[in-house]
Amino acid sequence: MKLLIPNSNEIELKTLILDLNGTLTVRGVLVKGVSKKLKVLKNKGLKVVLFSGDTRGNGKDISDKLGIEFFVTSTGEEKRIEASKLNPETCIAIGNGLIDTALFRTVKLSIATLQSEGVHVKCLEEADIVVCSILDALDLLIDEKSLVSTLRV
Ligand SMILES: [Mg+2]
Repeated sequence: MKLLIPNSNEIELKTLILDLNGTLTVRGVLVKGVSKKLKVLKNKGLKVVLFSGDTRGNGKDISDKLGIEFFVTSTGEEKRIEASKLNPETCIAIGNGLIDTALFRTVKLSIATLQSEGVHVKCLEEADIVVCSILDALDLLIDEKSLVSTLRV
């Protein structure tokens, strides 16, 4: 996905890094509608991966269901290291926790979701964009003009 940001540079986004708890799921349950939107993004050529500390032990089940690769990352530093292997200048990250802070600092574009599990203030401070839900975050990537509009200088 290539985005031409008016009065700024063109950016190319190839990989979407998702957090699990409080982002893809709320209280352990996958947010309804996520699967369909991820299919749209995969069809657009975006690689989608899950980075999670796996607090609830359901990371594998959910990643299998969504057809995405799962990396167990127990700390924020582990998320940062895994992202650094994926050409972070072409990565988008979506998350909500303190564990996502270093990841947000590493990737090209970071989106914090403020759902009912909340968002850590440090994660919020590192985010490029804050949205109300994972569905809103995925819609920003599906409708690229909304994303360009939010990012333009
Ligand atoms: Mg989380």
